[in-house]
Amino acid sequence: MRISESRAKAEGRAQVRPTAEGWKQAMGDDGRPQLQFTAKARVSQPPVHLADLTLAERAEKLKELGLPGFRAKQLSVHYFQHYTTDPELMSDLPKDRRAELASVMFPKLLTEVKRLATDDGRTIKFLWRLFDGSLVESVLMRYSNRITLCISSQCGCGMNCPFCATGQAGLTRNMSTAEILDQIVQANRVIAEGGLGGQKHPEERVGNIVFMGMGEPLANYKRVMNAVHRMVAEAPEGLGMSARGITVSTVGLVPAINKLSEEGVPVTFALSLHAPDDELRDEMIPVNSKWKVDEALDAAFNYYVKTGRRVSIEYALIKDMNDHGWRADLLARKLNARGRGWVHVNPIPLNPTPGSVWTSSEPDVTAEFIDRLESAGVPTTLRDTRGKEIDGACGQLAAAE
Ligand code: SAH
Repeated sequence: MRISESRAKAEGRAQVRPTAEGWKQAMGDDGRPQLQFTAKARVSQPPVHLADLTLAERAEKLKELGLPGFRAKQLSVHYFQHYTTDPELMSDLPKDRRAELASVMFPKLLTEVKRLATDDGRTIKFLWRLFDGSLVESVLMRYSNRITLCISSQCGCGMNCPFCATGQAGLTRNMSTAEILDQIVQANRVIAEGGLGGQKHPEERVGNIVFMGMGEPLANYKRVMNAVHRMVAEAPEGLGMSARGITVSTVGLVPAINKLSEEGVPVTFALSLHAPDDELRDEMIPVNSKWKVDEALDAAFNYYVKTGRRVSIEYALIKDMNDHGWRADLLARKLNARGRGWVHVNPIPLNPTPGSVWTSSEPDVTAEFIDRLESAGVPTTLRDTRGKEIDGACGQLAAAE
């Protein structure tokens, strides 16, 4: 009997194994779930957009077009502060060149295909079509004290986790820096136009970003980091957001986590752990075949040491799979062994995905799991997951029309 089965039995519980149900997980030559770290060969990237460039690069590009560098600033204000790409609204630019400039600097990246709202309009899921027909989603959420946008970083995902809808179709390509950023600018425009429900505030906009939409952000490291740099860059070079409000979430690509900790941008870091033991995590998170639980936790701890930022551990609670008492205890032990006060745990009740027969943990089991972590001194907060009704919650983004 496997260790996890005997432990479950000792608790009078079952041990469900994580197998994909209702769909087939792509397998590699080694018989393990396939991992795609690079996009398919010969995929093209979208045309270069103002948001792909630094302010200096924008000025350079305008000089090539025979215009003075200060025009870069004006165009940047239109995009990052007024959320507009419409040449008609750019009265500060030479009339005879407005249309040309807008088409060169603002190629259309995201076309809205569908908008679904729930929670009285306070949660909105956007479906976007990209220049090559790829579909991605982002989810906008109003809370009492902030507005959060959950953004995508890749078209599809190559990490192949059996409980997440995004992985089911594999990875098509990486999103460009500007495609990542345009999700925020588009959301800000919707907010400015009064399109987000709930109590309105003066001059409101997206203040928090979570890289928890489609894709594995650390597998698209360079473009994601460029996007992050532009999010925090002062307006009009970027959006002038606070790095603390940006959360980068990963399945645990250890070398990239270590790189992130040297980046000098103190974003909030989240590790999607979901199991404290390799026996289970090997099956739940295919990338665990490369980097084990302890290596991922060491990298997360290193992120805290280097940045001083408390990290989050995400843990989707799945009935009879990873929600046993002993796992809560083991998780607490592993976290405490590295130190105190460096981490908090975010359990997430599992959201249903197409074809999956797994369900979220029972309320009493969830409560006990949290209780055991808390009693061991590990701060733990159950994540309020929004947008289940519109398939907009964690793990449900699959982008179909
Ligand atoms: N690839 C990154 C970011 C995207 S997923 C990562 O894995 O962290 C955002 C979060 O949703 C992750 O913690 C992921 O594990 C979780 N998630 C995936 N499928 C889920 C599901 N069906 N129910 C609840 N959470 C899920």
